[in-house]
Amino acid sequence: MEIITAVRGFKDILPPETDKWRYIEGMAHQVFRAFGFKEIRIPLLEKTALFRRGIGETTDIVEKEMYTFVDRGDESLTLRPEATASVIRAYLEHALHKEEPVTKLYTLGPMFRRERPQKGRYRQFHQIDTEILGPDDPHTDAELILMLMHFLEKLGLPKLNLEINSLGCDQCRPPFREAIHSFLHGREEVLCGDCRRRLVSNPLRVFDCKVESCASVLSEAPLLRDFLCTACREHFAKVQTALGHFALPFRLNPKMVRGLDYYTRTTFEVTREFLGSQNAIVGGGRYDHLVRDLGGPDISGIGFAIGYERLAAMILEQGTEADSTPVLFIAAMGEAATEEAFQLCNRLRMKGIRVEMDYQGRSLKSQMKRADKLRSRYVLILGEREIAENKALLRNMHASSQEEICLDQLEDIIIQPVR
Ligand code: AMP
Repeated sequence: MEIITAVRGFKDILPPETDKWRYIEGMAHQVFRAFGFKEIRIPLLEKTALFRRGIGETTDIVEKEMYTFVDRGDESLTLRPEATASVIRAYLEHALHKEEPVTKLYTLGPMFRRERPQKGRYRQFHQIDTEILGPDDPHTDAELILMLMHFLEKLGLPKLNLEINSLGCDQCRPPFREAIHSFLHGREEVLCGDCRRRLVSNPLRVFDCKVESCASVLSEAPLLRDFLCTACREHFAKVQTALGHFALPFRLNPKMVRGLDYYTRTTFEVTREFLGSQNAIVGGGRYDHLVRDLGGPDISGIGFAIGYERLAAMILEQGTEADSTPVLFIAAMGEAATEEAFQLCNRLRMKGIRVEMDYQGRSLKSQMKRADKLRSRYVLILGEREIAENKALLRNMHASSQEEICLDQLEDIIIQPVR
């Protein structure tokens, strides 16, 4: 019979890759908590209206990529394509805004978008998502970007590019929309079908197009930065000054519009040229109207989402893998020794020490081979005589040396740091 395989674009994360993910998550909890963030866990499934209203009807995500279905109760539901709308839904539903003037939340987990799968792009992918709700001060923008870059640095990632832009506000966007509209008027025939549609529905989205002919038309297009109102210009300048205090290098990218409609003012991306076109590792920005658009009060927000898969692809296994290799392998010889070893092995595990053995009564040679394959640091060779004498041979696999030890000393020896 044929085996049933996973759904296209849905990927298993196997060991030792999972060690990297745990390493990333551990660092996220540590760094984000120092910056005052608290973890929130939200459902994978939401009412479709949440994303239609939150992300924007004319974005690629809502137009083509959502996993939407009608459930048995005739309700339209969607597997979340991103976390921000859900976090805000929870924030409003539980009236968290009434508790504190500033709410800093983060969440980790899978997102679902029906994109064309390729390296670095999946239909189920995972994000680390952070949101600061409340203040609209430029220091908040800078704080969030600083935390992000600090987190990436703590993971030991090689040089990354931070790009920032301002998408302005309700005041500066309409004149820009008009300018881009009249610029593209008469150039429609060079644009792809999608962009011709966008021209009517949401002209800002043309900057997001990956088609080369569209990109070349846009090389001379008017830029939003030249239309920013005084308040937006000042806000953006202050963000840059605050980043400057930390000597954080960044590049201004006036063409970055991001793929979601809710952004206002500061937007940012962290990229690296390693996965061809899928080089964005982090995307984020400010959204000053999303809370209101989702039915809440006028509260500002800013956040980012890091893609786990792309992040993990950049992290070397060294330093993350030691976590799952055993400290000790007990090679038991004979039935009685296996019984003793079984107890010893599980008692040590309950003390938090990684210990392995096998129960099949294989030859010493094959057990040594197995210990070697698992890269165990020590092997304890246990037979009936050893148990009777309370002594056994302990082999240090890294140093290729061995010594006879008293079994009472075992725990003390193996928990010492590697020599
Ligand atoms: P976005 O929510 O579109 O702003 O994306 C934020 C980050 O999530 C990106 O920079 C990627 O690292 C990651 N990401 C988005 N879509 C995918 C996908 N289909 N597969 C893998 N990672 C993704």
